[in-house]
Amino acid sequence: MTLSQQQVAALSAETVVVAAGRPPRERNEPVNPPVVLSSTYFGTGPVDSGDRGYGRYSNPTWEPFEEALGQLEGAELPGLLYSSGLAAVSSAFSLIPAGGILVMPTHSYSGSLAMAQELAGKGFIELRTVDIADTEAVKEQLSPGEGKAANMLWLESPTNPMLGIADIAVLADAAHSVGALVVTDNTFSTPLVQQPLAFGSDVVLHSVTKYLAGHSDVVLGALVTSDAGLRETLLQHRSIHGGIAGPFEAWLALRGLRTLALRIERSQASAAVLAERLGAHPRIESIRYPGLESDPGHERAKAQMKGFGSIISVQIAASPGLSGEDAADRVIAALDLWLPATSLGGVESLMERRRRHTAEPASVPDNLLRLSVGIEDVEDLWADVAQALDALDS
Ligand SMILES: *Cc1c(COP(=O)(O)O)cnc(C)c1O
Repeated sequence: MTLSQQQVAALSAETVVVAAGRPPRERNEPVNPPVVLSSTYFGTGPVDSGDRGYGRYSNPTWEPFEEALGQLEGAELPGLLYSSGLAAVSSAFSLIPAGGILVMPTHSYSGSLAMAQELAGKGFIELRTVDIADTEAVKEQLSPGEGKAANMLWLESPTNPMLGIADIAVLADAAHSVGALVVTDNTFSTPLVQQPLAFGSDVVLHSVTKYLAGHSDVVLGALVTSDAGLRETLLQHRSIHGGIAGPFEAWLALRGLRTLALRIERSQASAAVLAERLGAHPRIESIRYPGLESDPGHERAKAQMKGFGSIISVQIAASPGLSGEDAADRVIAALDLWLPATSLGGVESLMERRRRHTAEPASVPDNLLRLSVGIEDVEDLWADVAQALDALDS
């Protein structure tokens, strides 16, 4: 291990992203871990004796990233890297017993929701969706008067793309009191902004594709837990279901992680500026950004996040002869600098109308644009959004 738990505790997370997951400080060792391309390893002993065995069980290129992510999330164990965020979701869902109950935000990431719906459709689990910002409603779903208690509470905060804020500590407590496991999708915040394990979450999930890797060039996922039994079960699931990361992608994720603190600092600062200006623009019908004092999630976000992230969602106002949905599409078409593309968390600013995806729940407004603020100059970003909005009136 590059950094001991003691060192991690003494260092700022902004330093840990740079210092964690390095090869040993020995003469002629490389300062960056190499990419190991091998599907099998020399060894004849039992795999649980420490032999790596086969490439689906382990790869040395995964480990520095897993170690760094575990340390950043404040876990006592390394994380687990997966081939995608959804492969990690699949592994996390495998912790629900057959016929068990999953409580999930109505506005969870659409892919996670689709997977839960598929499992529920086959009768493998029971799915209850709920407005995650409504703490009393979540408690009710966890243990309804008549019905069975939940087995897993899925949290996403802020939610994608509605930016609802869950009270993670209170909900984790409520879930544990009925015996449910708590999994928090921390993709939007990263461990630099929010540490769900500290609020009682049992497992943290990341789409590493987004901020952690940060350059829109890989698809990866991860899980982190401090519970050795849970980690073993998840590792077993990854090994036999096969959702493993390619070594090149794992290497890129660690490379991206090195600049996470700088990227977060810049993109959060720009998001705050853009949110203020968007909120005052006549073409914006409504805005969600937890950093705005007027946002319904502001106080809760302030209490559990360090900063407010860099995702903003806005609804574009309709005008005579132009629906909000069409106006939103026109804004996207008029962008010169922002990339009209899905995904988020990269160095480049991205914007899309979420309902263009048929999988997006109908409760997401059709005139909603999700903005992922990157690291470009904030005035350049604003100039482009402003001209695209102003073009609606020309
Ligand atoms: C993108 C995303 C996922 C899915 O991750 P992939 O890497 O695309 O499989 C899960 N949760 C959230 C919040 C996301 O934004």
